[in-house]
Amino acid sequence: MKEIKIQDYNTVIRPQNLEEIRLLARELEGTTIKMVNSTAEGGGVAEMLHRVIPLFNDLGLKVKWEVIKGTNKFFNVTKAFHNGLHGTKVNITQQMLETFREVNRKNALEMNFDEDIIVIHDPQPAGLIEEKAKHKAKWVWRCHVDTSNPISQVWNFLTNYVERYDVSIFSAPSFAKELKIPQYMIYPAIDPFAEKNRELTQGEIESVLTKFKIKTDKPIITQISRFDYLKDPIGVFEAFKLVRKHTDCQFIYAGGTASDDPEGSQVLAELQDRASGEKDFHILLIPPFSDFEVNALQRASTIVVQKSLREGFGLTVTEALWKSKPVIATAVGGIPIQIINNFTGILVHSIEGTAYQIRYLLNNPEVAKQLGRFGKEHVREKFLLTRNLRNYLLLFFSLRHPGQELIELGQRLCK
Ligand code: UDP
Repeated sequence: MKEIKIQDYNTVIRPQNLEEIRLLARELEGTTIKMVNSTAEGGGVAEMLHRVIPLFNDLGLKVKWEVIKGTNKFFNVTKAFHNGLHGTKVNITQQMLETFREVNRKNALEMNFDEDIIVIHDPQPAGLIEEKAKHKAKWVWRCHVDTSNPISQVWNFLTNYVERYDVSIFSAPSFAKELKIPQYMIYPAIDPFAEKNRELTQGEIESVLTKFKIKTDKPIITQISRFDYLKDPIGVFEAFKLVRKHTDCQFIYAGGTASDDPEGSQVLAELQDRASGEKDFHILLIPPFSDFEVNALQRASTIVVQKSLREGFGLTVTEALWKSKPVIATAVGGIPIQIINNFTGILVHSIEGTAYQIRYLLNNPEVAKQLGRFGKEHVREKFLLTRNLRNYLLLFFSLRHPGQELIELGQRLCK
C-alpha cells in the first residue's frame, strides 16, 4: 500500500486546517515519542497507529511504535479486564493480577524509555508506568475503551497505574472518570484514504452488489453491525416490516460473528428465523476485514440506519456520514455527538420512530441529500484522522510547555 503523506490530505480538509497542523508540528520538530500498544495488527487501535504514525514522522516528529509481548495467559487476563471495563461481571484472581504485573515487568526490561513523550495505549501495557521514575519522559495513557460503566475491581486496579501518568486521554465525555490526573478528550476518527472509506467507482460498488445478489431496482436501507443484541437487529427487522406496509424498498443487515462469540451465532439464527421468506430483507454474513465490501454497501445505500440500543462511539455512523449518506440512528452512546438532529442526520428513540423517519426520507429525497451533505462536513471538521492528529499535537505541545495558555503559531493564535 502506498504510504500516505500529510500533503495528501489537502484534497479532503480545509487548507487552513492543514496549515494549523503544520505550524503546530513545526513547534514540536524533533520531539521524540514512543507509542506502545499490545498488537501490531487487528483491531481499531493498531489500524489507527499504522496510519497516524507515518503522518507524525512526515511532519518532523520522531515517533516510534513498539508492541509489548504477552503470553496467552496474559491476554486472557487482559481480555477479562476489557470485559470488566465494559461492565461485564468477571472474576479477577490475585494470580491474574500477578500475571499482568509480571508481563509488564518483563517487557519493561526489554524496552527503553529515553524519548520525550511516552504514549501507552489501553490497559495491557499500562503497567510500564513503573519505569517512569527512571526517565525524564512525560507519560500519557490513551484509553480507547468505553469506560463509562466498569466493574470496580478492574477499574480500581488500573487506577493505581493510571494516576501515575502525567495525563490521560478518553474517547468521549461519558467515558471520563474521576482521576487525580488531567483528562483530555480525543474523539475516534476515520481515515478517508482507508479501504473502508476511500472513494469507489460505480463498477466497484456494483461488483459487491452482484456478489451479494442485490438488485438496485428499489431503495436500499442498510445497517452494518456485528450480530449483537445491542445493535438491535430484530428492531431493524421490525422497522422494515412497518416501512414495507406503505413503501417499496429493501433492507440490508450486514455483519459478522466472531468464532469466539457464541451469542453472535444465536443472534444471527434468530434474525434469519424471523426474516425467513422476506425476500427484501437481506442478511449478509461478512467475514472480518471486509473493508471494501463495507465501503461498497454503505455507498450503495439510500439511507443508513444504526438502531443500536447501546453504543460506544458508533464508527459505522461516522463512516456513513463521510459517504454523504442520510443516517437515521438511535440517540445512544457517541451517536448524538455525530448526529445533530435534523441537521447532520436524524436521531430516533424507537422502532416506530425509525420506520417513520425512513419513510419520511424516502419521500423527501432533497431533505435526505441535504442531511448527507451536512453530515459529511461535520465529519470533515471533527472526526477525520487529521483532527485526531491535531489534537495529539496540541496535547504534546502542552506537555512540552506546561502552564502556557496561549500557543502562538506564526501569525495566528490558537487557544
Ligand atoms: N464492521 C465491519 N464488519 C462488520 C461489522 C462492523 O468491518 O461485520 C466495522 C464497521 O465498519 C466499523 C466497526 O466495525 O468500522 C464497528 O465499529 P462501531 O463503533 O460502529 O461498533 P462496535 O462494533 O465497535 O460496537
